[in-house]
Amino acid sequence: MRLRFDEPTEAFRREFVAWLAENAPDEATALSERPRSTAHIPGWAREWQRTLFDAGWLVPGNPPEYGGRNASLLQVFVHLEEMGRRHIYPSFNPQGLSIIAPSLLVFGTEQQKQRFAVPILRAEKTAALGMSEPDAGSDLASLRTRAVLDGDRFVLNGQKVWTSGAHDADVILAFVRTDPEAPPHKGISCLVVPTDSPGLTRRPFGSIVSPDDLDFNEVFFDDVEVPAENLVGELHQGWRVATRSLGHERAMLWLGFAERIDDLIDQGGSELVALGLDDDALTLDWFGDLVVDAHALRLLGYRTLAKARRGVEATEQSILKLFGSEASQAGALRMLDALGPDGLDPDRRSAPLNPLHEAAFTASWWERYLRSFAGTIAGGTSQIQRNIIAERVLGLPR
Ligand SMILES: Cc1cc2nc3c(=O)[nH]c(=O)nc-3n(C[C@H](O)[C@H](O)[C@H](O)COP(=O)(O)OP(=O)(O)OC[C@H]3O[C@@H](n4cnc5c(N)ncnc54)[C@H](O)[C@@H]3O)c2cc1C
Repeated sequence: MRLRFDEPTEAFRREFVAWLAENAPDEATALSERPRSTAHIPGWAREWQRTLFDAGWLVPGNPPEYGGRNASLLQVFVHLEEMGRRHIYPSFNPQGLSIIAPSLLVFGTEQQKQRFAVPILRAEKTAALGMSEPDAGSDLASLRTRAVLDGDRFVLNGQKVWTSGAHDADVILAFVRTDPEAPPHKGISCLVVPTDSPGLTRRPFGSIVSPDDLDFNEVFFDDVEVPAENLVGELHQGWRVATRSLGHERAMLWLGFAERIDDLIDQGGSELVALGLDDDALTLDWFGDLVVDAHALRLLGYRTLAKARRGVEATEQSILKLFGSEASQAGALRMLDALGPDGLDPDRRSAPLNPLHEAAFTASWWERYLRSFAGTIAGGTSQIQRNIIAERVLGLPR
């Protein structure tokens, strides 16, 4: 069996590949200031995003005024494939691009689209996502940050945590409790909160990957006033925005996991051969697993794509997230096992292919393993995916 995209989709791919060859920043641009996180955003990274926006290649599925070209679902997919194949990221602000701007384009007023969504897409503003709190992660509906409507403004008090890139963000899309009497899902609203508001404090902190790479934040709200016009969607209807926002993030997430597994196969395989570790039966066995996993993930992913094209809801999303994140994590761990002490060598890392090369693909094996936990936790942990699969796919009782 040979799976292929149709000719118009392939023609779209060729057009994008030709454009990339002409326009992607070259090696000389700024390798030394490659943005590992949003903490240091070099000017060329903003320029690159704006170049994509202006050419309609940033979010091809959007209309031209929002950085796209009204591309079809399959065209959007091959665009992602070509970026992924080159390990190129389109934005230094992934939450802004893939969660916050799309949410504002769906639920925002015209004024919010122009004031926030377009500048986020054009890399003029940076946005962070304020969902999780110390006691509200998996169970987001139990969030407690309080917002009281007082005339033409909301007054916020509470705390968020794990807010990626907040220290560098101009705005935070914050989910807050506006009706404490209502059932948990019904009393939440969504607000765009400027980070220069008096009473807002951001405290960045490091992660297990690198204590110095400060990307997470605690965000504290102490009588922070936010104009009522910054309410996104209807009052107390923030849960709709939240679920849709995460949907934006999840739809084609599996492709990133498939690319990580491909990378383990290519780079990991070459390294095992170079070290003479490729004739060990156990190593060959798990390596075979990895190849099968990559194929299985792609086939299942293509199925969701085909379903989405027919307008059928794909229940496989949770399976793809769980399988993709865990397979790439298991591969990284086995790679460490096979390499032994060499796997812990921080200098054993691959050279970036281009200045936009994602850090996840050039890090040392040890760091890649640590980074893999972002995949099994963020966007809904593996345990939560299993609960969803049990209830919604298998129809088991809660
Ligand atoms: C790299 C990364 C980036 C992130 N960026 C952001 C961001 O920008 N903005 C933001 O708001 N948040 C962000 N998060 C936070 C993320 O959304 C939460 O970590 C995630 O939702 C889990 O919540 P928690 O950490 O509070 O864990 P908890 O919900 O406290 O879970 C702890 C453990 O209990 C398990 N568990 C919880 N409930 C159940 C259940 N019902 N059944 C079975 N097991 C359960 C979980 O699986 C987990 O193992 C980020 C996280 C990571 C890792």
